[in-house]
Amino acid sequence: MDKKEIVSKFSADPERYYNVKLFENQGFERKSCLTCKRFYWTIDENRTNCPDHSDDTYSFIGNPPTTKRFDYTQAWKEVESFFVKNGHTSVSRYPVVCRWRDDLYFTIASIVDFQRVMGSKVVFEFPANPLVVPQTCLRFKDLENVGVTGRHFSSFCMIGQHSIPNSQGYWKDECIDLDYRLVTEQFGVDKKEVVFVEDVWEGGGSFGSSLEFFVKGLELGNAVFTEFQGDLSNYKTLDQQIIDMGAGLERFAWLTMGTPTAYDCCFGPITNNLLQQAGIDKNDELLVTYFTKIAKHLEQFSDLSEVRKNAIRSAGLSDEQINKIIIPVEGIYLIVDHIRTLIFAISDGALPSNVGGGYNLRMMLRRIISTMDRLSLKLDLNEIVDAQVDYLKNTYPELEKTREDIKTIIGIESGRYENSKLRMEKIVSKLNQKPTVDDLIRLYESDGVTPDYLKEMNVISDIPSTFYSKLSELHQSKKQKEQDQVSLEGLPETELLYYEDDPKEFDAKVIKSFDKYVVLDKTSFYARGGGQEPDHGTIEKFEVVDVSKHGNIIVHELKNGIPKEGNTVSCVVNSKRRDGITKNHTSTHILNSSSRNVLGSWVWQHSAFKEEDHARLDITHHSALTNDEITKIEKLANFAVEKNMPVTIESFDRGTAEQKYGFKIYQGGIVPVKSIRIVSIEDFDIEACGGTHVKKTGEIELIKITRTKRIQDGVVRIEFVSGGTAIDYVKQHDDDLIKKSVELKDKTELKEKRQEQKQELREKFPILVESITESKIGTSIVDEIIVDITESGKPNFCCTMSDQYGEFFHISFGEKLIEKDPWMVYCGVFEDGDKIRAIIYSGDQAAKDKKAGYIAKIVSEVLGGAGGGNQRFAQGGGKDKSKKNDAIEKAKAMVLEV
Ligand SMILES: [Zn+2]
Ligand SMILES: [Zn+2]
Repeated sequence: MDKKEIVSKFSADPERYYNVKLFENQGFERKSCLTCKRFYWTIDENRTNCPDHSDDTYSFIGNPPTTKRFDYTQAWKEVESFFVKNGHTSVSRYPVVCRWRDDLYFTIASIVDFQRVMGSKVVFEFPANPLVVPQTCLRFKDLENVGVTGRHFSSFCMIGQHSIPNSQGYWKDECIDLDYRLVTEQFGVDKKEVVFVEDVWEGGGSFGSSLEFFVKGLELGNAVFTEFQGDLSNYKTLDQQIIDMGAGLERFAWLTMGTPTAYDCCFGPITNNLLQQAGIDKNDELLVTYFTKIAKHLEQFSDLSEVRKNAIRSAGLSDEQINKIIIPVEGIYLIVDHIRTLIFAISDGALPSNVGGGYNLRMMLRRIISTMDRLSLKLDLNEIVDAQVDYLKNTYPELEKTREDIKTIIGIESGRYENSKLRMEKIVSKLNQKPTVDDLIRLYESDGVTPDYLKEMNVISDIPSTFYSKLSELHQSKKQKEQDQVSLEGLPETELLYYEDDPKEFDAKVIKSFDKYVVLDKTSFYARGGGQEPDHGTIEKFEVVDVSKHGNIIVHELKNGIPKEGNTVSCVVNSKRRDGITKNHTSTHILNSSSRNVLGSWVWQHSAFKEEDHARLDITHHSALTNDEITKIEKLANFAVEKNMPVTIESFDRGTAEQKYGFKIYQGGIVPVKSIRIVSIEDFDIEACGGTHVKKTGEIELIKITRTKRIQDGVVRIEFVSGGTAIDYVKQHDDDLIKKSVELKDKTELKEKRQEQKQELREKFPILVESITESKIGTSIVDEIIVDITESGKPNFCCTMSDQYGEFFHISFGEKLIEKDPWMVYCGVFEDGDKIRAIIYSGDQAAKDKKAGYIAKIVSEVLGGAGGGNQRFAQGGGKDKSKKNDAIEKAKAMVLEV
């Protein structure tokens, strides 16, 4: 539907769509803008143009239209007290990380707080009616405007005024009356200054009229009346009409303060302090002039650099003023804005990373650091975080709890950026032409090089206005939705026995059977879901191999055939398998909370998987886990097991559960039903979960982490086992350890023994050598060594094949022997595994005729192998153990024969 068409249709019948009691009571006149023809309502008879095209646009800068002065915090107190006084419930803000919608990473408007997924539809659930909420919203599309335009923020507080027209709530008349009185009475703005402009809103198949209200050209809020569904030619009134009035708290504060920009009055004393540190005078008239021009030009030019150029020209700024004042001021504004956004996002559990919503957060932190570097600002980010939390906790006391965690994450992420600078420098030095927007996106996506860094390095002078919106389109907001493939239209819902008595044996009626699938009227087979693997078992004689859920219908996949439709079948769930899976599921909850306790508030379940004999939990965390952290997590988890805490399961209305336990219950993602199952392990862990659980944590017996791994930026996987599997694992692990240590002991002992033997031998050598060389002519035996001494001047022979001598002996002893007696030839034969080896030494004199190498060659041939060496030393051998004696005899004959 075209918005323009709706406006023209609605504006053609203003009585029906726009006129409210206030306009009649106060004498508002309906006019059409001379410039753009839009219709607006005013009591100022001299006004001829809509707020966008009046001369008074942004004239509140330096000249506020009220005597009241409210900064950001005070402004909310005023708004809150006004609405509470007028029958509204003031609701605390919802998290900026939108855990309850599967299509949004971040909360982008106050109405999102109350939108819940129901099947495939979005429905509204309000905790009170009417209500008002100071909802922090994150928007990353206009990042290049932040700090520059004076009014764009990456996060802002949307004052949400919501009402359902029924016995408690109200509709258009009262809404506009309240908004008018808020501005005029509570904020003290002259009635003549308030202008209502006719507009419309449409989205998600519904639409309605809206009235935007302005003061001095500044749009304060927009009251949307979601009223119809259908299309323009055929629409009907919605069953659930809703008032969605969203106003910018920053703008209310700005209007009363009249500072050059909204940034000057929305961060408490922080902006001023930073300006002072940078040596800039905040009262400089130049800032008022310049930012008033910027505000006016924003409506006239679409390109931000054009807006800036023209404002500089019409404010008559010199280059020096731009460089010394405007550029540093813009940088400081950017820094305070971006840090505030990081504070909210990190506090609500988001981590900077290169995936999903974390993408924008990393980009923001890198912009902060680049800007500080570019402007040579020496700022302590921790101090700024502290100052912001101190200021914000008045409205948002919950930030106090995560103050230190915020600083930790910002510290780690800043360190990472500093570490990557060298690499970025290299990449940038290789750029040989001015990068296009696509180049910039590629540079950031693949190398983490931000355009702000390129600006800092003077590669580009401006960041193209389309960069952030393009990047946003690529990454932001939209999470992927999975589509259900199987169509089972017309079938009744399956009764889920596993949520009731959970019998492991039951009879059921076959509602439908097709291909290899069966749908029953009721089942105790748990269907794959929430990371819990499906039950197995049998339906009649057929094996159940998979179970899946499609809407409210459970489909069983069978092997080797299917039963007939209409039959009553007997079903058996494999309870051993279910038992293992169940223990692992409860263990997942325990480990999730243990990890958060040990690591920090940023830990959320990213995903989980529970099988019979193993499971894994993926958590959001910035770094790989250390051994110390793993030990601590495991210890805490087993402490929870030992405490034998009861696991209770209760059903709650979704809204009640959220109010009672907060959004931490959505660890496993959104729950698309109105009544949700809350699984509590006392106060230790409370989650919305559809899985099966043990009754008391003691049943788990033991949780053992088997492995952890950083699987992607910002996500760590914890693999674990529990119950009997964990006990077996530990036992196996212990057995392995014992086995290893025994092996090690044996090895060491053997080594020591050998050392001992060697030492003994070394001591024995001189004595042996002595007694051998001093033997009489003829044959004698010394310690199993056979000695043949001949007359002097002829070779002597000495040999042994005793078992007591090994390689070390033969090599060491032979050497010593021929040194003592140069006429000696030594032949040592020993078994080495399945081989027979021979070591031959020949003394200097003997070797002239009896060369060791030759003897080794012949001896080895006898042994059925080969050998060789030089004339002094040689070795060889073979495999024929029966030839040991022959070999020795051969050697002896070779040496002693003339
Ligand atoms: Zn106009
Ligand atoms: Zn669960």
